Amino acid sequence: MSEVQTDIRRHDSLYMHDGNIVLSTPNASGTVILFRVHQSILARISTVFADMLRLPTNGANEVYDGVPLVQMPDAAEDLESLLKVVYHENNLNFEKMSAETVKMVEPVLTMCNKYDIKDFRKQIISRMEGDWPTTLNAWDDLELEISQRWQTSQIRLRMAYCVDDILPEPVSAINLAHECNVPTILPAAFYHLSRLPLVFVRGTYITINYEEAGDAIFHDIAADGYLERGGRTASWQDLSSADHFRLMMGKESIRGEVRRLLDELLDASSSSICPSCPKDLISSFVDKTQRSMDRKTTRFDPLSMLCETVDKNMSPSACPQCRWRASDMMERLRETLWAKLPFCFHVKCFM
Ligand SMILES: [Zn+2]
Repeated sequence: MSEVQTDIRRHDSLYMHDGNIVLSTPNASGTVILFRVHQSILARISTVFADMLRLPTNGANEVYDGVPLVQMPDAAEDLESLLKVVYHENNLNFEKMSAETVKMVEPVLTMCNKYDIKDFRKQIISRMEGDWPTTLNAWDDLELEISQRWQTSQIRLRMAYCVDDILPEPVSAINLAHECNVPTILPAAFYHLSRLPLVFVRGTYITINYEEAGDAIFHDIAADGYLERGGRTASWQDLSSADHFRLMMGKESIRGEVRRLLDELLDASSSSICPSCPKDLISSFVDKTQRSMDRKTTRFDPLSMLCETVDKNMSPSACPQCRWRASDMMERLRETLWAKLPFCFHVKCFM
């Protein structure tokens, strides 16, 4: 019988001379990679590892380099990503709002799920929730930070970035959420996607240096200035048909919710008790807000519109108390809408 020749290689940094177990598995090009690690360290982070790596006592196990050898069912690349975290070669403090985060966390998160590594999983999810917030306050902070980051990048570098060069992308986050069971990031990711135009596909636009290319090219690729103003793109081609459906449902539901909530306010605010303002001050403000929402047919972003509506649609002669009352009403409306996002997009998550 002829023997198949297999390439075998010890991992550069994760083959430790004092390790007491060797893990072996092929990488994508078929080379078997050997990791010499510590059984006790792996057993401490995961009970699944503990059971799996318990050394057999009947002497039937394979031995390599004087220690037991275990064939692993995982791809060498995935095992390497996890072991690098275990041995602190990579830490889990991924940079906030990086376009690379999903790609970086996916193999580690997949391994965490498979081997029930709760601690790392928790840290990764908390990191992901920094990019796709679970509360309205965190969402507002992030929106502010993104707009500041965009402005400073442009000013500092005189570059017309496609903003997604420097910010996370929603479709990859949604796909990761499904594949690795991270439902809490779905409402924010879907909401963000719901306000993006389908024509701006990520990867189609590149960072352009004004000094080299001039304004003309940039205006050609983003005719209405959408990208130039910091508009974002998405990997629309990677969104599953089930998620396209979810998105369409969500967009309709959000519009319906906003209309319904404003109708309720209109009913409740039919007469004002303020002595210094017109009787219909609040109701005419709510009515104007509703009409401005109805006029907005594309890139509908009610969470942002409701922030600006008091400045735009409230009579300038309104007294400070009525102005405050209107702001408070809009803030509560935003909170209600935020809480309904999981239902709007038909995602099950506990927030
Ligand atoms: Zn008033």
